Amino acid sequence: MTEDAIPDLSRRKILVGAVASAAAVGAVATARAASFGNPDSPAEGRINARSRTSLDDPGPKNPALAGQFPSFQDPPATDINGMPLFWASFNNAHKRYQNGGWAREVTQDDFAISQDIAGVNMRLAQNGIREMHWHQQAEWAIMLDGKCRITVLDEQGRPQVADVKTGDLWYFPAGLPHSLQGLGATGAEFLLAFDNGKASEFNTLLLSDWIAHTPPDVLAANFGVPSDAFKDIPLDNLWIFQGQDPGPLAADQRAVQSARGAPPQPFIFSLSDLPPTRQTKGGFVQIADSRNFKTSTTVAAALVTVKPGGLRELHWHPNADEWQYYIKGQARMTVFDTGPKATTGDFRAGDIGYVKKSLGHYVQNTGGTDLVFLELFKSDHYAEVSLSDWLSHSPPQLVMEHLNISRETLARFPKNRPDVVPV
Ligand code: MN
Ligand code: MN
Repeated sequence: MTEDAIPDLSRRKILVGAVASAAAVGAVATARAASFGNPDSPAEGRINARSRTSLDDPGPKNPALAGQFPSFQDPPATDINGMPLFWASFNNAHKRYQNGGWAREVTQDDFAISQDIAGVNMRLAQNGIREMHWHQQAEWAIMLDGKCRITVLDEQGRPQVADVKTGDLWYFPAGLPHSLQGLGATGAEFLLAFDNGKASEFNTLLLSDWIAHTPPDVLAANFGVPSDAFKDIPLDNLWIFQGQDPGPLAADQRAVQSARGAPPQPFIFSLSDLPPTRQTKGGFVQIADSRNFKTSTTVAAALVTVKPGGLRELHWHPNADEWQYYIKGQARMTVFDTGPKATTGDFRAGDIGYVKKSLGHYVQNTGGTDLVFLELFKSDHYAEVSLSDWLSHSPPQLVMEHLNISRETLARFPKNRPDVVPV
């Protein structure tokens, strides 16, 4: 006799006890429905609390903050054990203001689990400039609001100047010099992702810093001009500063032309205009990686839209950790790891989630509006394994023997990797 053949009433007596006031037959069914997983070893979750004071919580609390996290306050009964925190946010990140804009960041210093990606949220005012600079990490970005002019030079001396709008991406390979400028009355707001969790927006190689810390005679020899040409250089770096209207794009593009031509592949990409990779009644997924956004060789992205009631299906990513950025709506995610460990958290606009490579997860829309979030991976390609796809493409008897489900039930599982399923 297998362990699974032991009668449910004895195996799950704690759970049955928790609903003892219900009618006997209905109680068993209810307990089973609420007690998937392995709740008996050990018993976790409020459902197991039988003593009167087990659920008391008299200590200090900030209801406004605690209320944002219903799944941490009252985890589903299927949660078990513990795991490193996979929630972070720009909402409580310190803003560094300058005349011309601001930025805030969440790096691995703030978010220990986030080994692969450091995130920056930046706003540039009308004509506000993010100083010409470069860094040791690649920079991936998505425009969240407004318009922005980007400039970049590749390692063969081929320049690109382009204007991007909400929903557009850019990607600057590690070490390539670039700048950003907010355009028009809206200015620009965007999310940056560096392909290294240790990277910091406050620690980049700045044009003004280098010029200010190079001997004037060396500057003169290097640029072939008198050294007093540099008498007015800024002695403190600019980082973000207020600029002037840069004028028409075409004029800038003409001005930067090089005999070496333009970069063979653009450093920008329109993600929001991309047809969905997959679409169902529950939502859709748009994927940008090096297969379509050719220059983006170290960051792959999926922009996921989940309709109210929809679910980003149970899945995992075999190739890389997932760094999430929540753009609209609200969500609940459970991460599953060996142990077993399962932890459920809640996410809202401006929050960040993180799932280590190959750990199982789902993302559920818990609000009444569309949920929109980004999944970023430090990889040249997007990759995913769907649980329903695996089970529906394994020998049916094998799956039935694992889950004690009928052939009819198994036959109803999706077979086409829907990505987002209606609930
Ligand atoms: Mn940069
Ligand atoms: Mn995922």
